[in-house]
Amino acid sequence: MKIAIMGAMVEEITPLLQRFGTYETREFANNKFYTLKYKNLDVVVAYSKIGKVNAALTASILINKFGAQKLLFSGVAGAVSDELHIGELIAASGLVQHDLDITAFGHPHGFVPEGKVLIKSDERLLSIAKDTANSLGLSLKEGVIATGDQFICEASKKEWIKKTFDASAIEMEGAGVAFVCDALGVPFFILRAISDAADAKAGFDFDEFLQSSSKISADFIISMLERLERS
Ligand code: SAH
Repeated sequence: MKIAIMGAMVEEITPLLQRFGTYETREFANNKFYTLKYKNLDVVVAYSKIGKVNAALTASILINKFGAQKLLFSGVAGAVSDELHIGELIAASGLVQHDLDITAFGHPHGFVPEGKVLIKSDERLLSIAKDTANSLGLSLKEGVIATGDQFICEASKKEWIKKTFDASAIEMEGAGVAFVCDALGVPFFILRAISDAADAKAGFDFDEFLQSSSKISADFIISMLERLERS
């Protein structure tokens, strides 16, 4: 089975590549793709660069050029739910685009004709993640992740996103990945460890916790691979 593991920033995939140790590097479309073998799995790792467009481009390359049959995303996010704290893990039950807005024409936020507001994550991968968390004694929350091309560091904006989409966390790539995987029929799983609370000190917290939270997320994804490998 071929599995893609994607991050947005180099910091998010570095702990993965460090754990894997050996890999080959291939360049395509101004980006690098790292291919390796992990037990009986063929794995391809890449970071997309920040934002929905980069994320969608990389997800389609991972699927169409590298033949990924499942896509796992590992990275950091801002907390929207008060129950999520720095370093804690959240798996997306589904993803929305909070900055997609043609409400002027009577459509709901996050919707364009022939589309849908919420793209749901793959149930089987979510259940593998829950089993992984249980077996490791780790807490894994599950909720809607809201994606947009903005770093959110303002309480009022965060509250609006929480209220409008019933979101638990916020980031800048997940919905782009979800859209591509959904359209191409590839099961996906988006995991984030919290780096900040999307509030006035989010920029500061993000810099402080990017590395540690990226590692928490990457370690969990590698534990999931053990189960995927057996499934
Ligand atoms: N410091 C970086 C920019 C980081 S942008 C630089 O200067 O290059 C934030 C990244 O982390 C995005 O990839 C996004 O997915 C995630 N993220 C973490 N906290 C976020 C928040 N509060 N709002 C939006 N995205 C957030």
